[in-house]
Order: sequence, then structure tokens, then C-alpha cells
Amino acid sequence: MAQLEWSNGALSDFEPEVLPSEKWALYSSFPTSHKITESLDTGFAYAMGYKALISFIEEKHSLSAKKLDKVNLFALSAYLLSLSPFRRASIVKTMHDWIPTYSYLCRQGRHYSPICPRCLLETETPNHVRICSAPAAIHGRKLLLDQYLASLVSLGTPIYIIATFKLKLSSTLGIPFLHKYKVTTPIPLPSYKTLILAICHQNIVGWSNFLRGYISSFWEVAYNTAHSSTMEKKCSNWAVQLVLASSELYHKIWKDRNQFIHGSNRQEARAKLREHILSQVHSIYKHPPKLHKRFPRVLSVPLHDRLKRSTLNLQCWLSRIDHQISVSHFLLKSRPSGQLSLLQAAY
Ligand SMILES: [Zn+2]
Repeated sequence: MAQLEWSNGALSDFEPEVLPSEKWALYSSFPTSHKITESLDTGFAYAMGYKALISFIEEKHSLSAKKLDKVNLFALSAYLLSLSPFRRASIVKTMHDWIPTYSYLCRQGRHYSPICPRCLLETETPNHVRICSAPAAIHGRKLLLDQYLASLVSLGTPIYIIATFKLKLSSTLGIPFLHKYKVTTPIPLPSYKTLILAICHQNIVGWSNFLRGYISSFWEVAYNTAHSSTMEKKCSNWAVQLVLASSELYHKIWKDRNQFIHGSNRQEARAKLREHILSQVHSIYKHPPKLHKRFPRVLSVPLHDRLKRSTLNLQCWLSRIDHQISVSHFLLKSRPSGQLSLLQAAY
């Protein structure tokens, strides 16, 4: 907030003059010096965090101020404000890739491997979640994209805009070509021009940013141009609905991955966890690690006995084995060959 002047006179060239009778008024110095007369929360939000937020978004999503200039931030803001605080927090986390992928959990030491649990081929990053090549992951994304395009049809979106989204988003999400939504009639010239403008601008802003809710303002122009020459019913807040559908698609792709790993209810989650732990136990028994003699051998307990134990017990055992492997590695490597240990030297 701008500094408040309790007496006559401005603080600087940019500060407004504050009269004694206005000493309790609030002034903001951003984006220009002005008196806040309404929407106190918004005024505070802008003054306290707007600059930091813009620089964060620019850096995180490679969006310069020029690119953001023609992004429909009003639609994005209207969509986010329409959500409950809990839902908004959830959507915003996905938008900015604040999601606990295995690579992230592994960096924090909360998971043993950064590899994607679905394709088992690549490191699981937020970007990988959207292009994972596992057949189940591709199938899930294809279904979600289909639902997304169908929702745009119900908003009265022209077929050539839907066909464009289908083409661009299929490529962004690594989905094989979809056969629906083909343009069979010529596009009127004014609509064609606005469509090209919107595609060019969105190409600059980025299609992964489109899924985050950063849609070009020219899409609304293209939609309005298409409806200016027809009597078809127009959606009054089409841009907001487009942001909603795009952000939801993005969020659902992450939820689909979570469902694969954790299941859709507690019972499934427990079963999946048990299955995962058992596969780890099997793999350790198949290739038992070389442990220092101070630790019990893995095979000292037969596999069929080990598998009878509870999931929690097995989880603890796996963590112990992990620790024993690193300690054994240290003990076996730290002493040059032929050198006696203190114990051996003493006796
Ligand atoms: Zn994968």
C-alpha cells in the first residue's frame, strides 16, 4: 500500500495529496496511484502480490508480459473466483504443476524411485504425466479429450474451432488422431481470418498453457465472429466456459494418474498398496542384496512366510532393507582390501 500521509501534501510525484479529512483513506500505488473506494480485498491483493504473481507466472510458464497482454485473464479470473476456496486451491496447484509426481517425491526422499509407475520407462515429471506412453494412460487422456470436445459442442462452438482444438490438444497430450469433428464445409472469410489469428497467438502463448487456462483473447473474437452471421444461440460467457473446460481437462489428467496408483476408493487404495508392496518383496527375493554380515540375510525368512505379514509390517521391512543396503555399501567399500578392522586388529 502506498504510504499514508497524515498531513497536507503529497509524499512524492506519484503519491496523491491526502487531505486531513481523508487521513483514514487507503491509497494504492499499483498499477497507478489511486484511492481505494471499493473492493478492499481486491485492492489489497493487487497492491500486495500482483507484481510478484506476474513475475512468477512469467517465469514458470515462459510467458512474457507481451504474451500475457492478449491472454484472456478476465475469463481465467472469473472462472477461478466462481470456485469454492478448496476447489480453487486444487485447480491452481495443478495449473502451476505443484503436484506430487514421483520425481518430486523422490527428490524429497518420500519415494524410492522417480520412474513413472504406468509406463515404467521415464522419470515422472508433471510434463510426463500429460504425455505418458502407457496404453492405459493414453486411453484415459483420449476419453477425457473426447468429453472435453463434446462439452464445447454443447456451448455452440463452431466445428472449425473444435477441430482446431482437437488437432492441437491431441498433439500436446500425445494422443493418436481422433476421427470425430471434421470440417466439411468452407469457413466464411471473416471467421477464417479470426481463426488464424487465434491459432497464431495461441501457438505463441503455448498449448500446454491453454490447458492451464491461459487462453488467447482471440478465441472469443473468433467465437463471436462465427455467431455474428448466424442466428444460432450464443453462449453469453463462452470464454469462461472454455477456460473451465480446459482447466478441468488438465486437472482430470492428473486425477486419472492418481486413480491408477491409489484406486478410486479406500478399499481399492489398500489393495493397490498391498499389490505394490508385494511386487517389491518378490523383486528383493529374486535378487537378494549383498548385506553386511551384521544384518540378517533376506532369505533367512522363507518368501511364503514373509508374504503372510501385514502391509505395514512389509513396508517397515522394506525401509529397513533400504537402510541396510546403504549401510552395507558403506561398510564394504570404506575399508581398503587387506586392511583389518579395529575388532580384527585387537583380537
Ligand atoms: Zn509414464
